Amino acid sequence: MKALQMVDTKSQYLKIKEEVDSAIQDVLDSAAYIGGKAVQEFSTSLNEYIGSKYTITCANGTDALQISMMALGLEPGDEVITPSFTYIATTEVVALLRLKPVFVEVDAKTFCIDPDAIRKAITPKTKAIVPVHLYGHAAPMEEIMAIAKKYNLFVIEDNAQAIGCDYTFSDGTVKKTGSIGHVGCTSFYPSKNLGAYGDGGAIFTNDEALAERLRMTANHGQKVRYLHDLVGCNSRLDAIQATILNVKLKRLDSYNAARKEAAAFYNKAFEGIDWITTPYLAPYSTHVYHQYTLLLNGVNRDELSAYLTGKGIPNMIYYPVPGHKQKMFAEFGLEDVNLPTTDWLTERVISLPIHTELEIEQLNFITTEFLNFKNK
Ligand SMILES: *Cc1c(COP(=O)(O)O)cnc(C)c1O
Repeated sequence: MKALQMVDTKSQYLKIKEEVDSAIQDVLDSAAYIGGKAVQEFSTSLNEYIGSKYTITCANGTDALQISMMALGLEPGDEVITPSFTYIATTEVVALLRLKPVFVEVDAKTFCIDPDAIRKAITPKTKAIVPVHLYGHAAPMEEIMAIAKKYNLFVIEDNAQAIGCDYTFSDGTVKKTGSIGHVGCTSFYPSKNLGAYGDGGAIFTNDEALAERLRMTANHGQKVRYLHDLVGCNSRLDAIQATILNVKLKRLDSYNAARKEAAAFYNKAFEGIDWITTPYLAPYSTHVYHQYTLLLNGVNRDELSAYLTGKGIPNMIYYPVPGHKQKMFAEFGLEDVNLPTTDWLTERVISLPIHTELEIEQLNFITTEFLNFKNK
């Protein structure tokens, strides 16, 4: 059996090696290393895939979030409602821009931000909500957009883990996550569902004026070269990454289908086991399984993790310390923030290998050994 990995980007690459290598060679030959045809083609294809009006590529997913908050004109002291149960990038940029992160609860089933918690957290200073489509499952966008409309707030979707995920509205309309909020952000970090072989990110919007501000913000605040109208930053997707992403975007749906198949194997093996809760699927969302994350009931997680590691089965805790307990936010005085669901989930989640190259033999081994933990 091939050694197990959380993500197997190497095996995936080997299957598309010729096409990728030749695309990279074309970029090298063109000498257009920044911008140019590859970046243009990729943003056009991605824009079409997501179903957004405008796509702005940038250097990584963290920058995508930062540029969004800058371009929306958020100002120091403005409050941004975000889940605590997420990767740090979501909330770090809030603090970096001297905005105030307001950490709220997630739903215990979907792991995504809870609309009731959003409503309770709104104050006259609230300016934006940042739902995260965690692990590849959509946050309840229809309700979030309704809240945002009522209170005149911006919605910035953190779609770094859910590219390709479909959201179905109550009238039957289907949209890709990332195209629903005022702005959507994503990441092409190698392990993401659409991963480059380096860093990359993108921002989506349907608002023309905002698209222009996003583009300017990512490019030193300039629209006309050497005329800088805004304070921006320098955040670019390079041409080599863009050309790799062009090759991979065509395969994204089949990559997500492969993840779903692996997840279905896990789900079946773990069905009816009282100490395991398998991932929930809300009626409005598909799942692209960026992570396959279980909830453990009455099991010592440290022991299980060590046992799995001993068997050569990689496993991870996403994420071991929630945002509201991170020292980086000390200045915001979060001692009184009480998020029992977030804490409860943090203590009980465990993620198993999930990627496009998992073989039946590997899945069999993982699930058999996992279940053996209780009988050992
Ligand atoms: C990966 C990720 C990011 C940041 O993306 P980078 O490209 O690593 O900067 C932001 N939010 C979430 C939820 C992520 O998983």
